[in-house]
Amino acid sequence: MIGLFMALALIAAVAAVGARRWRKARWARQQPGTSIYAPVIVSGFDEIDAAIANRVCWCEGTYAESGETSRNIGQRRFRIVRLVCNQCEREQLMYFDVTAVFH
Ligand SMILES: [Zn+2]
Repeated sequence: MIGLFMALALIAAVAAVGARRWRKARWARQQPGTSIYAPVIVSGFDEIDAAIANRVCWCEGTYAESGETSRNIGQRRFRIVRLVCNQCEREQLMYFDVTAVFH
């Protein structure tokens, strides 16, 4: 009987962790600039710095830039910034549409 109770408690705990992880993953995907198909559109490079400064990791840590690269798709220009969380060291790419900067 106690064994059954413990098994149920364990299942509930695992489900709770899974649900939390899923919610966090969904939250992370909904942040602006997480894919090249949903970039943050900027009109100046200073806006990129501001967006990075305002970005918060799901552990509530702040991000530091660890590298960046450029990419063109047709007429559109993108800057892809690699971010690393200062607390949990999670890496994250952030996509910016910088087309307007060059016009
Ligand atoms: Zn973090």
